[in-house]
Amino acid sequence: MKKLEGKVALVTGGNSGIGLATAKQFIAEGAYVYITGRRQTELDAAVEAIGKNVTAVQSDVSNLADLDRLFATIKQEQGHLDVIFANAGGGEIAPLGSITEEHFDKTFKINVKGVLFTVQKALPLLPEGASIILNASTASTVATPAFSVYSATKAAVRSFARSWILDLKERKIRVNAISPGVVPTPGYNLLGLSDEQVQEFVDSQAVTIPLGRVGTPDEIAKAVVFLASDDSSFVNGIELFVDGGMAQI
Ligand code: NAD
Repeated sequence: MKKLEGKVALVTGGNSGIGLATAKQFIAEGAYVYITGRRQTELDAAVEAIGKNVTAVQSDVSNLADLDRLFATIKQEQGHLDVIFANAGGGEIAPLGSITEEHFDKTFKINVKGVLFTVQKALPLLPEGASIILNASTASTVATPAFSVYSATKAAVRSFARSWILDLKERKIRVNAISPGVVPTPGYNLLGLSDEQVQEFVDSQAVTIPLGRVGTPDEIAKAVVFLASDDSSFVNGIELFVDGGMAQI
């Protein structure tokens, strides 16, 4: 028996990096998966790479009308949703002193507002026993230079998981946060650094990680499958670090 047999799942930001790897593993475990992203061409490429049991809906998590359209589609096609991986997000480098209003608004709009309204608007579709996984980050607790706004958004995401298990108590819906460590993905090219600077960052981080290396999107996806499935039926409100030990020392 596969771990997500017959389940319907949503992965926001499912056309790249951790989201794409997770969508693939959800499907391999028997789920039907909806992926979202902002650009249709990248969604089309992801659907082609995944192959089957997937539908892409172009949708910006920070746009409430897009979210309404997304959940109307899932309602019409499936009638319910068992698993949400609120994954879409990202950040850019900006040291205190150079933080602009635009940087602040953009980062909070995607990482915090986007996660909140993705989950809230999905609620009418969630049955008892549904599982919600929020993609936070080790940045929720470990500081990185010039990354304070991103880190604050991820601390907010981690906090949502704590609060929402109380708000959803009567419905027996589980909410957990996952906190990846350093996991090179296409998202690293959007940080505002050159390719060389990205490589330097990755190399400098790898030596500080107890396992001596950075992680892969597949390693995060495996942990998300655990939180999505009944294997984690008594796990609720946690922050699961998948970081090679980086945030534990
Ligand atoms: P990525 O850039 O490869 O993937 C991000 C995905 O989010 C893309 O599919 C992108 O299209 C989508 N996205 C961005 N803004 C969106 C929006 N407004 N609406 C809809 N989709 C949007 O990067 P990734 O590294 O796979 O990041 C995925 C998540 O993991 C992010 O929330 C990120 O903060 C978190 N994370 C990543 C790492 C890491 O080291 N890669 C570590 C900790 C946390």
